[in-house]
Amino acid sequence: MTQQTIQTSQALFDQAQKTIPGGVNSPVRAFGSVGGTPRFFTKANGPYLWDADGNRYVDTICSWGPAIVGHAHPKVIEAVKQAAEGGLSFGAPTRGEVELAEWVRDHLPSMEMMRLTSSGTEATMSAIRLARGFTGRNKVIKFEGCYHGHVDSLLVKAGSGLLTFGNPTSAGVPPSFAAETIVLDYNDIAGVQACFAEHGQDIAAVIVEPVAGNMNLVRPAPGFLEALRSECTKAGAVLIFDEVMTGFRVGARGVQGLMNIQPDLTTLGKVIGGGMPMGAFGGRKDIMLKVAPVGPVYQAGTLSGNPVAVAAGLATLKIVSEPGFFETLTQMTADLMQGLVQKAKAAGVQAFSADSVGGMFGLYFSEQVPVSMGDVTNSNREQFNRFFHAMLNRGVYLAPSAYEAGFLSIQHQGEPIAQIFKAAEEAFEEIA
Ligand SMILES: *Cc1c(COP(=O)(O)O)cnc(C)c1O
Repeated sequence: MTQQTIQTSQALFDQAQKTIPGGVNSPVRAFGSVGGTPRFFTKANGPYLWDADGNRYVDTICSWGPAIVGHAHPKVIEAVKQAAEGGLSFGAPTRGEVELAEWVRDHLPSMEMMRLTSSGTEATMSAIRLARGFTGRNKVIKFEGCYHGHVDSLLVKAGSGLLTFGNPTSAGVPPSFAAETIVLDYNDIAGVQACFAEHGQDIAAVIVEPVAGNMNLVRPAPGFLEALRSECTKAGAVLIFDEVMTGFRVGARGVQGLMNIQPDLTTLGKVIGGGMPMGAFGGRKDIMLKVAPVGPVYQAGTLSGNPVAVAAGLATLKIVSEPGFFETLTQMTADLMQGLVQKAKAAGVQAFSADSVGGMFGLYFSEQVPVSMGDVTNSNREQFNRFFHAMLNRGVYLAPSAYEAGFLSIQHQGEPIAQIFKAAEEAFEEIA
C-alpha cells in the first residue's frame, strides 16, 4: 500500500475553516470522531468518488443514501439537464410534482396525500407540527439514538430517571421545547406501554426511524413497531415513521411495506430527491387536509417541489422500481456483510458483527449486533476508527463515525465489492 497524497484536501480544509465553521456544511463531514483530514471531492461516478488530489474511492456512503442507482446515472443526469433547460424554479405548481406524488402514493399507500419540502428536516418538523395541530396535544415521543433532522424539539436526549422529559442535546434549544419531548429507549416495548399509560392523553405523536440508521444500523425488535402502532391507535396519537433514510433504500415500499405496518404519517428525504435537495411528508388524508391552505396548520417553502429536484427524484425512483432492483441490492449488501464477518474472524478480530436491511448496512466492533443506542456506544469505537483509516488509505470510503450506517448502490456489484473485500482483508489484519 502506498501512502495517499492528500495535500490538496488538507489545504482546502485549512482554507474552509476560515469561512465555514469547522470547514464543513454538516458536522459529520469534519471527521471529528475518526480524526484526520476530511477528503474534499471533485467528482463521483457510479460507485466511485474522486478527491481533490485525484485519489479514487469506492463510496459506501452514497451521499448518505440518495445515490442508490450510482452517482451520475445517465438517466438521472439527462432528466436533470432537461428540467434545468426549462428553468430552475417557478415558485408555482408543475406537472412533475403531481406525477411524483402519485408515484409515491402508489408505492407507499399509507401516504394518501403529501407535501414536498426541500430537506428531511423540514419534513419531520412539519409532520410534528401537523400531528400537534391535528390532535390538539403537545407531547411527542422519540427514541434515543434516532435522528430526525435538526428540529429544535427533537434535539433532545433522555432526562435522568424513568419517564422524565427530555434535555436539549444542542445549545440554543430552550429547555421548555425539550420538555415537550419524551425520550425512550429504542426497542423498549414495556417503556412505551408505561409511558402511554401515564401520558397517553397528552401525546400528539410518536416519531421513530422504523429501521434506525443514525446510531449505526439498528433493527426494530419483533413486536416493537406493532406496539407503537397499537398504543398510538388506542391513545389517538399520530404514528410518524421517519423514512427519510429508509424510504426507497430498504425496498421500494419502505420499512412500512417490508414489515407491513401502516403509520399515520411518513417523512421522506434522501433517495426521493435522487441527490438533489428534497423531502416529503404525508399520510392519512384526514390529517393531511389540516395543512394550509385547506387547513389551519401552516407549512410552506419557496423552493418546495423544485422542478430540477423533482426530475432527479422521479428518474431515480423509476430505476429503483424496476423488477429485481431491490432483490439484487439486498442480496449484494447481505453478501458483503457475510464476507466481512468472515474476513474479520480470519484475521482474529473476534468482536465484529454486521447487519443489513435492503441497501443499508451496519458494521459493529462488538460481538453481537446492537439493539439499542447503549449497545452501539459500548462497541469498540477506537478499533472502528483504526479500521476506518485503514480502509480509507486503501481507497474505500466508509462513513466517518461508528454511529453511522453505510449505503451501497446497484453499481457496486462486481469489481467495487471485490475491492472492498481486498481492502478489508488487509485492514482487519492491520488492526487485529
Ligand atoms: C437524514 C435524516 C433526516 C434529516 O434530513 P436532512 O435532509 O438532512 O434534513 C431526518 N431523519 C432521518 C431518519 C434521516 O436519516
